[in-house]
Amino acid sequence: MTRIASHRGGTLEFGDSTFAGFSATAGMPVEEVEFDLHPTLDGVIFVHHDPTLDRTTDRSGAIAGLTADEVRAAIVNHSHGGPTHTLDLDELCAVFADSPVLFRCEIKPGADGRPYPDFVPRVIDALERNGRLHKTHFSSFLIDTLRELGEETDRPRLWLVSPPVLQQAGVDGVIALARSVGVSEIGVNIDCADAQLMQRVLDAGMEFGCWAAHTTPQIEKAFDLGVKVITTDRPSLAVAIRERHPEASARIARERQA
Ligand code: MG
Repeated sequence: MTRIASHRGGTLEFGDSTFAGFSATAGMPVEEVEFDLHPTLDGVIFVHHDPTLDRTTDRSGAIAGLTADEVRAAIVNHSHGGPTHTLDLDELCAVFADSPVLFRCEIKPGADGRPYPDFVPRVIDALERNGRLHKTHFSSFLIDTLRELGEETDRPRLWLVSPPVLQQAGVDGVIALARSVGVSEIGVNIDCADAQLMQRVLDAGMEFGCWAAHTTPQIEKAFDLGVKVITTDRPSLAVAIRERHPEASARIARERQA
């Protein structure tokens, strides 16, 4: 069964990385919640996609250049009720304390595109402190960050392969790069995915998933391919499609017979 990851807590249904979205995801029949992390000037880790607050809140500035109090004072756009501040990582862990949904934690670079210094160990420590590390898979677009994750933890790592990287390196180049940092799972944009690409990745002994599957045709394509996991901004839609997908129907029938 293809797993569903609620991307940023379901951005197209609940706003981008909102309390409402994460709370809703915690109660959904999905397998994972995807989120992104950035550190503040005073060392607090926040759950936010962009490195700056400009697009998503009523304030501006790079998170890494602000204090935690300043980030908390920013009101999130389209927060759909409930708390309107950006959550820190401890707060996110509290939202999922009683949920079976696993974490898909993306380590983001700063506004300059470079990894934050010494960020990975601090994220791992925070997840461990909250009792969530064993329920966390990590992801990154950055090879350097994947390498650093591999040095710091045995938890699974997923390489998010962007369309230009896939085009320039080719499938064989991507597989070789992934192997060079010990990563055994890649995710590509759903629009780049097809059966041939997936088979080449599987033949290399790697797992294959897709991200940015937000529309019905994109989500159905992922389920038809049978990819390991999709990341979607519309988790409720993905759940509904999965429930009526033939593969899921067959599985439910088997479970009922068992
Ligand atoms: Mg992400």
